[in-house]
Amino acid sequence: MTERAKVVVIGGGIAGCSTIYHLTQEGITDCILIERDELTSGTTWHSAAQVTNFGMNQTMVGLKSHSIALYKELSEDPEYPINYHHADGGIRLANTEEQMEGYRHFASMARGMGVEFEVIDAAECARRHPLLETDGLLGGLWDPMDGDIDPAQLCQALARRARNAGAKVIRHRPVTGLTQRKDDSWIVHTEKGDIEAEIVVNAGGYRCNEIGAMMGVSHPVASMEHQYFLTEPIKAIEEAGHRMPLIRCPISDYYSRQEKNGLLIGFYEQGCKTWGMDGIDPNFTNALSPDDPERVIETFEGAMARMPAIGEVGIHTIVNGPITYTIDGAPLVGPIPGKRNAFCITGLRAGLGEGGGHGWLLAQMIAHGEACYDTWCIDPRRFTGHATVELTALKAIEDYQNEFRFHFPHEHRPVGRPMKTTPLTAVLEAEGGHFGVVNGWERLEYVKPSADFEEEHSFRFTNAHDIIADEVRAVQSGVGLTEVSGFNRFEITGADAHDFLDRMTCGRLQRTEGRVGLSYLLNHQGMVKAEATVANLPGGRIWYGSAAASEYHDMDWLTQHIGVDEDVQIRSLTNDMTILVIAGPKARDVLAGAARGDWSNEGFKWLAVREAFVGIAPATVMRVSFSGELAYEIHVPNQSLRAAYDALRASGAAHGLRLFGSRAVESMRLEMGFMHWKAELLTEFTPYETSLDPFVKMEKDFVGKAALAAHEPKVKLVTLEIDSDMAPAHGGASVMLGGRVVGTVSSGDWGHRTGKNIAMAFVEKALASEGHAFDVDVIGQMLPAKVISGRIYEGAR
Ligand SMILES: Cc1cc2nc3c(=O)[nH]c(=O)nc-3n(C[C@H](O)[C@H](O)[C@H](O)COP(=O)(O)OP(=O)(O)OC[C@H]3O[C@@H](n4cnc5c(N)ncnc54)[C@H](O)[C@@H]3O)c2cc1C
Repeated sequence: MTERAKVVVIGGGIAGCSTIYHLTQEGITDCILIERDELTSGTTWHSAAQVTNFGMNQTMVGLKSHSIALYKELSEDPEYPINYHHADGGIRLANTEEQMEGYRHFASMARGMGVEFEVIDAAECARRHPLLETDGLLGGLWDPMDGDIDPAQLCQALARRARNAGAKVIRHRPVTGLTQRKDDSWIVHTEKGDIEAEIVVNAGGYRCNEIGAMMGVSHPVASMEHQYFLTEPIKAIEEAGHRMPLIRCPISDYYSRQEKNGLLIGFYEQGCKTWGMDGIDPNFTNALSPDDPERVIETFEGAMARMPAIGEVGIHTIVNGPITYTIDGAPLVGPIPGKRNAFCITGLRAGLGEGGGHGWLLAQMIAHGEACYDTWCIDPRRFTGHATVELTALKAIEDYQNEFRFHFPHEHRPVGRPMKTTPLTAVLEAEGGHFGVVNGWERLEYVKPSADFEEEHSFRFTNAHDIIADEVRAVQSGVGLTEVSGFNRFEITGADAHDFLDRMTCGRLQRTEGRVGLSYLLNHQGMVKAEATVANLPGGRIWYGSAAASEYHDMDWLTQHIGVDEDVQIRSLTNDMTILVIAGPKARDVLAGAARGDWSNEGFKWLAVREAFVGIAPATVMRVSFSGELAYEIHVPNQSLRAAYDALRASGAAHGLRLFGSRAVESMRLEMGFMHWKAELLTEFTPYETSLDPFVKMEKDFVGKAALAAHEPKVKLVTLEIDSDMAPAHGGASVMLGGRVVGTVSSGDWGHRTGKNIAMAFVEKALASEGHAFDVDVIGQMLPAKVISGRIYEGAR
């Protein structure tokens, strides 16, 4: 008889075990975990298994807190206790003031999740970790909850609980193929027979691409060889009277934790290497790579310099095994792009610490369609077509080499660049352009004043501040030109296209040809899912424009909702076209000089769209503005981009046209109270909480309406003015009142036209009206702030 289950999870490491346990917790007990060998026989069994609370954003901190709480509870289960060293504490070291400021920001961010990190000086580091030398050390971030766990016991405990709840765990049965049926359900093939499943989950660790290939997908996951050493007992540890805290060292790239009375020391060596790029031996199971101590010797010396006691004892064991990486270091947890009823939980490089939380969030996504936190930072759809395994391997090396060196704001690392370019990238570069990366696309951030200008990255305002001020001034007083590469654009057609979009969006949908409207899409929980600029073009064509990174996300969401009887077609034009924006009081003159037609205010009103020629380039021109100034978005096929650019520059010469970049746009959009997808537009808040009230029409039907109607708003998005010119408030910073966290910053920057330090923040609803005063914890300093009007600049758009 064929076996059947609602969900089949493939892979019995921490990812799979956590997922199946949490599925049963979310009410899905009809599920199977299938493992090719024994549980934990991939990477999990030999993990150093440190469990930390540190994360770069609130979702990561929240999911790690879930791991810690769950592991503690499991360790205290009298029926099946497991070994967990809970809350030994840990220190992330720092030797520069910039790192210390970063830690202060992360401490501010984590406080909003109920996690109290502490930034301590070097002497305090040594007091808490008696093996540490403090030479050249400034201090560190103390994470009180750090610890380590027995990885095999953890997985057995999770599997046991899942079994007790009704799930089935099958071992020694490799999945050999996957077939998707017409109704989107799956047949999971094994040598011992098929299993029918509604939903499949790829939790295959370093073999995730073998499983991916069975369903015709390639995950941007690559493995690195990763080593740690175990030392003989160390006297100072035996005598300390307490367990040693964990150490993470961004100066010499190692970590350590106590193991028995010695240390476990792991290395992120510069001379690192990828693993399994040309296929993985099918017999590599419960296995390690050969010891390779030479590779890490320099890094080990760094650890010995910081903890000289290591040099006095021998090494008794070396562990060298594969560890998975993605392009940005965070895993892939969520729906597999372009597939139905298929999820993955792969690319975990800190799977023991994070796995409890990832499985929790994934189970929520499978059971309810969404998790309690916004999961974009782990969403597999955040990477699009450029995200090959080849690129991933290069980024994995870069990431491994910088393991404990967090990204500073606006820091875009060099490897794998340029990945996606337009015909203008080289032209703008020749003009001094400095680029960031958005979904693989090179995007102009600002124009450097000289070829050798280097931005000094910092959590404070940087040395690019005046450059950006200058670009904003040029836009405000004259006219600027910028390229918005990678903007997502779908063409939606069919007799039912408008009705379909009307159902998908929560406000009034603009249906008139030649007009543009801004619309918001909600999920079934009534929370903000997506933002779209809907433009109605001749011939019944609708352009759906959204953030550059949203291409796969929005495509999946839209296509999943097309009814079987609906005549709706969607095709992506994202990689075929690019936008040029001209903005500023003289923008109309520049456009009129480059394109025939009536561009007068009457002839081409606010929110109009028209097809035209800019020079000889066919273009679709929209009168919309993200800056608040008079502005035109000129959408041009990439093949004609250069021609359009040349025409605008030629026309602009007489009007003093200047280039400007995305950093100037960021400053201006904050002054207008305009939002960014995945900064302000999150699945944790309703449109009312996001201050999008004018964009909701409860008198029509739309996805998420019932849930929205039933939801009681708890917070409100506001604009804050911060009384300081020291630093911007970065996303995640805590808004404090009377020693209590009452809100979280979503974005912040200097408003160059208004001379204000501006932040957007979600604050408790009762505190959201104008004039309410708070402190915002910006890199450890409590800066006074007050709620001001959402739009603090009166543009002339
Ligand atoms: C040396 C080292 C030290 C580490 N230290 C830490 C640390 O201190 N803290 C931390 O958080 N993380 C650490 N990690 C990382 C962590 O161990 C991994 O992130 C985690 O174990 C990955 O778990 P997983 O379930 O994704 O993969 P795996 O453990 O590899 O599990 C995948 C499972 O899928 C099974 N499988 C594959 N293909 C099939 C198939 N076709 N059919 C059925 N089953 C299949 C495999 O047999 C395997 O059991 C370390 C890793 C290494 C290598």
